Amino acid sequence: MPWQRAILRCVRLLLVEDDRELVELLSTVLRGEGHVVDVAFDGHRGLHLALTRPYDVVVIDRGLPVLDGLDLLARLRSRAVRTQALVLTAMGSVRDRIDGLDAGADDYLAKPFDLGELRARLRALGRRAAELTAALRIGAGRLELEQHRVVLPDGERVPLTAREFALLRVLATHPETVHTRSSLRRTVFHDAPSPSIVDTYVHYLRSKVGRSVVHTVQGVGYRLGAL
Ligand code: CA
Repeated sequence: MPWQRAILRCVRLLLVEDDRELVELLSTVLRGEGHVVDVAFDGHRGLHLALTRPYDVVVIDRGLPVLDGLDLLARLRSRAVRTQALVLTAMGSVRDRIDGLDAGADDYLAKPFDLGELRARLRALGRRAAELTAALRIGAGRLELEQHRVVLPDGERVPLTAREFALLRVLATHPETVHTRSSLRRTVFHDAPSPSIVDTYVHYLRSKVGRSVVHTVQGVGYRLGAL
């Protein structure tokens, strides 16, 4: 499944952690594995990024300046952001784990942790993020995914390239967000040099799935449309 491999190879990850040495280590290792890693050093910045940019996985330290890690997570969940979340903490008691899971964490890891274990857990969360998009919600409708094809509401099966799929997935997982061309170029196309690449792929998607699937927000960018 080429598009699935493309997604698994590159997880878009947000790291919210105030320990700069740990951030340096983790971001170096994770970028070395081909992931796209953004960093926030306090909870407020982390919340802003997690709300406005599409991530597959967010790693949140529990003890953060400005806004505590569990408050950050609870605010994300209250705004229907379902990004896979792993909470890191110096507090590893059963009660702490329960609090973390209740706040909306998908996984929980106590410090000090083994780097290999963290990487394995992030791979598992990345796989789950990919599986959760086995069907994309598009407005009132759903677009079923079947390997590298989408199944249109009338049953027609249309093949999508990995890039077309990645663009649709980012729009569909953040349906309320207006995505600027530069943010899409960065997250979907890994800063491809062509400034028009986003418009080109929006054109491809519309021609395959339907003109209304992507909505143009004049002067800003794009957001998810309807089927
Ligand atoms: Ca901390």
